[in-house]
Amino acid sequence: MGDIILKSLLYRLCLGLGGLALFWALGMLGASEYGKSAALMATALPGLAGLCLLLRARAAWLSATTLCVIATFFLDAATKGFLRDYFGLRPNHLLVLQAVFNTNPSETGEFFRHNWRDIAEASAVFVMLMSAVIVLERRLSRIEATSAPPSLRRSGKIAVASLLTGFLALHLNPTMAKENPLLYWPIRYLDYQGQLAHADKLQRELERNMAQRADWRVQYHGPERKTVVWVIGESLNRDNMSLYGYARNTTPMLNSMRDDLTVFRDVVSSEPATMASLMKMLTPASLDDPEAWTRQPDLVMLAREAGYRTYWISNQVPNDGWLGLVANRADERVFINKGFGRGENNFDGNLLPDFDTALSSDAPRKLIIVHLLGAHPTYDMRYPEEFARFDNSDDAVMTALEAQGRSLWVRRLRNEYDNAMAYNDYVVANLIRKTMSATASTDASLLFSSDHAQEVGHTRNHTGQSVADASGYEIPMLVWTRDKIDSQTRAALESRPYQTDQIEHTILGMLDIDSAYYDASHDVLSDTFRPRPRSINGQAY
Ligand SMILES: [Zn+2]
Repeated sequence: MGDIILKSLLYRLCLGLGGLALFWALGMLGASEYGKSAALMATALPGLAGLCLLLRARAAWLSATTLCVIATFFLDAATKGFLRDYFGLRPNHLLVLQAVFNTNPSETGEFFRHNWRDIAEASAVFVMLMSAVIVLERRLSRIEATSAPPSLRRSGKIAVASLLTGFLALHLNPTMAKENPLLYWPIRYLDYQGQLAHADKLQRELERNMAQRADWRVQYHGPERKTVVWVIGESLNRDNMSLYGYARNTTPMLNSMRDDLTVFRDVVSSEPATMASLMKMLTPASLDDPEAWTRQPDLVMLAREAGYRTYWISNQVPNDGWLGLVANRADERVFINKGFGRGENNFDGNLLPDFDTALSSDAPRKLIIVHLLGAHPTYDMRYPEEFARFDNSDDAVMTALEAQGRSLWVRRLRNEYDNAMAYNDYVVANLIRKTMSATASTDASLLFSSDHAQEVGHTRNHTGQSVADASGYEIPMLVWTRDKIDSQTRAALESRPYQTDQIEHTILGMLDIDSAYYDASHDVLSDTFRPRPRSINGQAY
């Protein structure tokens, strides 16, 4: 008798897990999302269905409970699948929260009109899988009805109790609790409210502590007309650029412009992650004084004070905590990454028209900051199909990775990472070309760097940010200036060691701004530059 019960619970669990596996196979659930959902379902479904048997409920109750639990998980999977298509990001990302919670009825209507295809697709998958489960569940309960109604023995009761306890215990792990389909949106809504409150508090603190304008001592000493462009890349490791000697031709366009560029060969980021690194790039905060950003003005404030019109053109998340505060100080702000259509929304190349607009505006002095998504994971969502140049490559890079024992998974991601690098080459080279041609008669310069680098099987079987490896910090940095730099000076510049917590000094130098916060000895382009000791992860580099 116990066997029958066990079987009936097991069959139902197989229905649910099988359905979830299909969501995964269709690319609607990530592997780790599937794992967490499966773990929750494996305790919840037999636990609750077992409870029906325990309470000797009618067979219809068993069916209804099974279908409800499975429907909840399927609906959750379909929603995640839709959001994944829509944003090209994991659905728990801040971007989704903003789109979901920071919206009004007309935007919601617009959203459904614009995305009905993707919504219909996700709904169709849900309806199909759910119908299959309903048919199978009916067949199961019909078969079971022919045998005697099962009653639970003591061991069965213990099993049901432990499953339900297990289900509750899983919630002690916060990342598991977050995947419970019923808690998913409430938890994220609270998260989002928390983030908004945090940004508000930050803003008030900054206003209270910020140095008085007179203390900034900002002076502009440049020509009447001037354009400075700062392109901030994302997750770029210079070792993956042929411009830096990589065996794969990932940067053909930048290579062809080599004679116009100063290519710094020895630059590291101060931090391995976006926010901490950008804070030390955009403000006087540094590794020595990480809190300086709370007292001293950021680069956008200084540029505006010096009479620059400031532009923030971004493919990253708007209103993202501290960075959102800085970006929102710019005179003109463009955030293209709001998601319209299947993932294409977040290709960096879609920023180019807005960049053209900024370049052609007639403000005499312009600072244009372009914030790219670069090679941020998930790599294969960062480039259009025609840049998938290294998929299934059988070349020296693959041979070397294989010889180093890197897994198939890491090698596949390396190919995708290099595809993203190739697309980044296209985007950055276009930004440089556009700057060159739009500023033919004015003083102009452009600096391109990355927030931090990325480990993609360079030193171990790992892909993503890396706190401990140099691969997490070794970034590209290059400069183009309207004024020609002679080759001897250029060679000397290119070998200067630099760390990007000082980079605001270089940008201030390019902007011809003197200020209490500018020190020429930290400006890598200055004649009086002095190299300083560098450190990564608290260790001398
Ligand atoms: Zn980053």
